[in-house]
This record gives sequence, C-alpha cells and structure tokens, in this order.
Amino acid sequence: MPSVQSSDVRGLSAVDASRRLAAEGPNELPAPRRRAAWKLFVGQLTHLFALMLWAAAVLAVVGGLAPLAVAIVVIIILNGVFAFAQEYRADRAAERLRDLLPTRVQVIRDGEVTRVDATQLVRDDLMVLGAGDRVSADLQLVAVHGLAVDESTLTGESVPVRPATGQQVFAGTFVVQGEAEAVVTAVAGNTRLAGIQTLTESADRPPSPLTVELHRLIRVIAVIAVAVGVSLTAVSLLLGLSVTEALLFGVGVMVALVPEGLLPTVTLSLARGAQRMAHGNALVRRLDAVETLGATTYVCTDKTGTLTMNQMEVLEVWTPYGVVAIQGRGYEPVGSAEGDPAAIEATSKAAASAIACIRGRAVRSKGRWVAEGDPMEVAIDVLARRLGVPPVDPVTVTHRVAFTSETRYSAVVVNGNTVVIGAPDALLPYCWANGEAAAAVEDLAGRGRRVLAVTVASGVRVHDGQLELGADVLDLLAVVGLEDPPRPDVHDALTTCRQAGVKIAVVTGDHAATAAVIAREVGLLGPDGLVVTGSELPDDDERLGELLDRDDGIVVARVTPADKLRIARALRRRGHVVAMTGDGVNDAPALREADVGVAMGASGSDVARAAADLVLLDDHFASIVTAIRLGRATFSNVRRSLTYHLADNVAELAPFVAWALSGGSLPLAIGVLQVLALDIGTDVLPALALGVERPGPRVLEGPARHRRLVDRRLLGRAFGVLGLTEAVVAMTAFVLILTGHGWRFGAEPSGAALAVASGTAFAVIVLMQMANSLACRSERSTLFEIGFTTNRPLLLAIAAEMVLLTVFLGVPPVAELLGGGWPSLQGWLFAVAGVIVLLLVDTSTKLLRRSRTRG
Ligand code: ADP
Ligand code: MG
Repeated sequence: MPSVQSSDVRGLSAVDASRRLAAEGPNELPAPRRRAAWKLFVGQLTHLFALMLWAAAVLAVVGGLAPLAVAIVVIIILNGVFAFAQEYRADRAAERLRDLLPTRVQVIRDGEVTRVDATQLVRDDLMVLGAGDRVSADLQLVAVHGLAVDESTLTGESVPVRPATGQQVFAGTFVVQGEAEAVVTAVAGNTRLAGIQTLTESADRPPSPLTVELHRLIRVIAVIAVAVGVSLTAVSLLLGLSVTEALLFGVGVMVALVPEGLLPTVTLSLARGAQRMAHGNALVRRLDAVETLGATTYVCTDKTGTLTMNQMEVLEVWTPYGVVAIQGRGYEPVGSAEGDPAAIEATSKAAASAIACIRGRAVRSKGRWVAEGDPMEVAIDVLARRLGVPPVDPVTVTHRVAFTSETRYSAVVVNGNTVVIGAPDALLPYCWANGEAAAAVEDLAGRGRRVLAVTVASGVRVHDGQLELGADVLDLLAVVGLEDPPRPDVHDALTTCRQAGVKIAVVTGDHAATAAVIAREVGLLGPDGLVVTGSELPDDDERLGELLDRDDGIVVARVTPADKLRIARALRRRGHVVAMTGDGVNDAPALREADVGVAMGASGSDVARAAADLVLLDDHFASIVTAIRLGRATFSNVRRSLTYHLADNVAELAPFVAWALSGGSLPLAIGVLQVLALDIGTDVLPALALGVERPGPRVLEGPARHRRLVDRRLLGRAFGVLGLTEAVVAMTAFVLILTGHGWRFGAEPSGAALAVASGTAFAVIVLMQMANSLACRSERSTLFEIGFTTNRPLLLAIAAEMVLLTVFLGVPPVAELLGGGWPSLQGWLFAVAGVIVLLLVDTSTKLLRRSRTRG
C-alpha cells in the first residue's frame, strides 16, 4: 500500500467538482452514430422482398408493360417508406429504453463516499471501484485491493488483468474482483473507449434468434415463390402463351406469395411489447427477449430484494455474553440496545470491527434516512451509530477482501488486525469454540432473520485478494440477526406465476432456514416443500433436473454462481425455458446460460446487467411476472399478424394456379397489381392493429401454449383453413359473375365482364380479410367470445380498409390501372356471404379443435 496523501483521500470538493462539470461537460460518450437514416431506407429498398419486386418490375419492362413496371416501382418505394418509418420508430424506442438505465458510481468528495451518476464524473475525481462495477472513465489506480479487471470489451482478451497501483484502467471495462481507489484521468470523448468506439462503430450486433427464425421463414417463402413462379411460367410457355404473358404470370405468382409487410409489423409489435414492459419496470436489452419471456416455464429467482424489500435492520445480536435486542426505526441511526451490559459491550466491539468492512452508509435525504450502498452494510452502519461507535478512519485500512458469492465473506486489515464478516456457515468452520454460536444461528435463521457473523483474527494473511483461512483462526465476536421483510405484493405475483404454469425456485446465497421461512411467508413453499442447499444438489445433471422439477415452488440455498449455472443448464436440458436472476459479478455465466438472464437495476452489479437480457428497474419479482405476461401477449400478437398476413397468400395465388391448371381456359381472377394492392395496401393496417393488441386478462391462465413463433398449427390455420376459404369463395364468385355475363369456359371474356368479375374477386378477398382480421384476434376463442369491439385500432383499420377498397375499385384511373371494376350488387352480396362463410369456418374449426383437445 503506497502512502496516500490525505488531500488525495478526501477527493475533490463538491464545489470544485460541479465547477469542472459545468466547464468540461458531462461524462458521456459521444452518442454512437445512429445508423444513418438513408442507409436504413436504402436497406428497405434492397432486402430480399424488395429485390423480388425489382425483378418483377424489370420483367414487366422487358415484357413491354411499362405502366405495370412504374406501378411496381411506386409500390416498392411506398412500402420502403412505410417499413422505414416503422423500423425507425422501433429503433428510437430501443434507444429511449437504454436511457432508462443510468450507471451509478461511488466517488469520494469532501472526504465522503457518495454515489453519483456516472455522467457526473470529472477529471481528478477520486473514485471507489468495487467488484461488479463497470468502469465509467479512464482511471489511474491509487490503492488496489485484490483488483481484477475484465478488459475483454476493449482488448478481446477474456482473462482478467490484475493492474497494480499507479497503473491505468479504462472506461468500458469491468471490475470482476476486489476493490480499488482511483483518480479519474479522462472522461467522455477523451477516454480510450471513445477512441475505439469511433473506429468500430459500424460493428453490428449478431442477429437475435427471432430474427434468424423470421429470416428463415422469409427465405422459405421466397424459395417457394420463385419455384412456383418459374414452374407456372414454364407451364404457360408450354400452353403457347407469349413470352411476355408467361413472364407476367411468373411475376404475379412471386409477388402474390411474398408477404411484403411482414417484417416491419413483427419488429413494431416487439418494440411495442418492450415499451409496455418498460412501463412495468422490466427493461429488455434485446428486442426478441420479449418473445422468449412469453415462453418462460421456470423462474429461478434470488431472494434478497426480489422477494423481500431489501430494507435491512439489525434487530438482535448474539454474543458469547448473551443476546442484545436493538431498538430503532428504519435506517435512522438513533436507537437503543437492551441486554446484559457485557453483551452490549461485546456488541459495540463487534460493530466497531464490522464497520471497517463496509462502505454502505445511512444518509439523510429530503428529511428521511435512506440507504446509500448495500442495504445490509447500511444496517451495520446504523447499528454502530445506534450504539455510539465512532466511524473508522479509512486511511487505517491496509487491505480489503471484497465479498463474493463464492466465499460469502468480506474482510479488511486495520492496524494489523483482520476483521472478517460473512455468512455464518462460511465462517464458523474457522472459528474456535463455536458450538453455542451454531445453535444461535439456527435459532435466528429459523425465525427468518438474515444472519451475519462478525469475527476477528490476528494471524490471517491476505494473498492475491483472498484470505488464507484455517481451523480455529477466527475469533467470533457476534452473530447479527437482520430483518428483511417480504414485499407485500409478492404473494399475488407468485400465485399468478403458478397459475400460468411457471415453476419457481428461490436460488439464494442465504442460509437455508432464513430462505425457507421467507419462502413460506410469501406462499412459495408448501409445508413440506423442498429445501436443499447447493452442496446437496445431485452431481448428475439429469437427477438435478428431476429434483428441481419436483414441485412448483422450491428453495435452493447457499448456492454458488457455479451451482446457478448448473441449475440453468439442467432445467434447459429438461426442456424448460428458464429465466434466471442474478446480481453478482460471477452470475454472468448463469445469466447467459439461461434463456432469459434477469439482472437488477436498482441493486446488483453492472457486470450482471451487461450479461442480462432483462433488467428489473425496481428489482421486484412482480416485474418478472409483468414481463412474462407482456411477453406472452406480444408473442400472440406476432402470431396474430403472421396468421393474418399469410392467409391471403392462398387467395392471391389461387387465380394463377387455376389459370395454369385450366390450361389458360379460366381467365385470371386478379392481376399482379391487385395482389400488390392487397399485400401493401389493404392488409397493412389491420396487421399492425393485430400486432399491438392489448394483453387480455387471461394471458397468464394456464401454461404457455406455443414455444415457437411459427409452427405447423399456425401455418395450417393460415393456409389450410383461412386462406383456402378465401380462395374458394373468391374463385367461385369470379366464375359465377363471369358466367352471369355470358362467359363460357374456354372462351375469351369481354373486357367489361372481366373487369366486373375481377373487381368482385378483389372485393371478396378484401372483405374476407376484414373478417379474417377479426378471426385472427384469437387462436382459440371465437369472435363471439372476445367481442367485436374490444380492439379499437383494428376497427379503425377496417374502416380505413373500406376507404381503400372504394378507391381501388371506384376511382376510375386507379381501378383501370389495377384491372378491376366496381362489382355489381350481386358481387357485393358474394363478398358479404364470404364474410359470413369465413366467420363460420373459423368458429367451427376453433370449436372443433377445442372439443378434440379437451376430449
Ligand atoms: P442473496 O441470495 O440473499 O442475495 P447473498 O449471496 O447476497 O444472498 O448473501 C449470502 C450471505 O452472505 C448473507 O446471508 C450474508 O451472511 C453474507 N453477506 C452478504 N453480503 C455480505 C457482505 N457485503 N459482506 C459480508 N458478508 C455478506
Ligand atoms: Mg445478494
């Protein structure tokens, strides 16, 4: 330990710091340059679907159909603008979400450790770094206690480095072990990170699993479209059509099969889901975590702060001289102690030792006493102040061993004496004469108290940031019993979770008895529920999985981060979709292994947050449940709009197939431009409205129904039921209207007859798509059960669809270009009949499937 000047130890003065802040500006990285808007837009014009449309336009030009080509280009651009607008909105939404999570840092100003927003750091600030912190500026170390820093974000090197006093650590790295004090040497744009960021700005993040799945779907559709298109072109050539006409059919089929509006709709509904989650204090860090959350079947949650309030207070202290009861209110540092004078003296001595280990303090803010730092540490600070123990001069501390969830203790060396505080089961084995203490621990824990042993030693060495402990080296001063009451609304959240078929394990570093009492209090653990400790878990992953799957609420106590990792892995092997919370430095691997890693926004380490998919802004278990609920809702929304989008492909394809199969004897019911008018015109708004439907009250009743976004059932319903019905009715209407105009099979229809018949087919499809949008609001419930008016945006979308339909069929130049005229009364009756047929088919298939799945 180098000698530190006392002026250095006091840090900057608050006045000086705010002056510098005003002069030099906040410690913010220059915002990563946004993906340039024009690039986004060009992207919309050049993705696979757009390219297919471009090809169609070129073919139209080649075929001598310039107006068609122009129309297609206009549509590509309109669609591009629309998709661009949605992606842009989704991007901005994601950006706003990121801003919700500020980084707090510890600085020493005027000699006091305080927490400020990382943006408030200025040059020459004296900072305290702890395990789990993200380094927020470039720093020079002035005191180091077993420090290890993960620099992989800067260097790519995954083995942590161990910088010494005098060396530098850089913004963007993470402290994975130990503690340090350091002086800020560069902030904001002057940090090394800022330099690197401008170099690697364009490095994109890898695509998420959902994106991958969607792109696979799109590719499959594209391949099918091209294959069908090419074969129909070949058929038409064989039938003796001109090359122009043959090409036109090919183009039509390709265009018909491609669901152009699909991707932006999905992105938007995920973004919408993410926004709703943020309102519920659950922040997703990847958009598609929204989807995974919806499929979650097992939640592994820690206890402190998630199920409990994380408001700690020392209520009693066991000492070898007797038990002392502490009175006081919250974090207010005034109160009294009751007990044998010798016991009170022993308690004071223990508190005087313990406070050297801690950094948390109770501070007065807006007339109230609040915790600054780890609430358990604050409770120890409050205890010491209630007992009148003077604070420790930080200069006298020569070594620090930080708390980790593996060792479960922390230690300091003060004036040559080592003070070790930590979980009793981690320390008692090294204490001499501990028999009575062990009984006291069981008693305290059995009443739901969090327990902390305070010990001292004289001959213990600190090596490489670790204590070298051995038998009988520690002298037990006291066992502190703390209260951390359960959160009041956690009971309901747990019940909801269970009803949703989601199992829960409390996975905690705490004492088994303490955890069991709390778990029973909140109704998670039954009277003979399973309580195991980390060391009792079976070695075999399969047996571990079976054990964890036994009940729907269990407690696993005294776990290490390695246990957490195994638990996540074993559950996933059993087919569970696992959400796992973690707050510690070493929880990152478990968070990554889980399907959804959940970190704490209020407490918890920056390292855990960086590894997580979901951050709970309020640390509250209920927010996980909110996230699951909204995840499920979003998941169904995406399925709704997918089903809707895919259904009319069949109706769009049918005319082309019918034409080819009839050897050209049956005229085309709808043309290429009409297909585009459907896909990019009338379909778009209802699909969007379906994609943002509000979660129903029953989304959390019963287990999650679907694991994958696109499965056989969805495709079967879209293509085989809804799409087929639309195709049959539209084609029937087309043929009947034609024959009504005197057309006979194989003959060439008159232009007027064809226009009316085609307009009718178009109207039938559009109206049936309106019915379809209502049908798609639920995969199981019939429209009569969910009600017609419960999705307002959808009703508006349908109204807009009517207007569009009128324009497409009734405004002469538009109708002429598209190739369909205003239907006759008879035609409209067909369309209305189509609506009824579709609703009947939908309702009866739903009822049929329900009766089959029930029986
Ligand atoms: P939880 O799962 O409840 O978050 P932790 O892993 O944080 O449990 O803590 C487990 C035990 O470790 C606590 O019961 C306490 O005895 C001890 N402990 C927690 N924090 C500290 C600390 N900062 N210093 C020393 N011991 C601690
Ligand atoms: Mg904890």
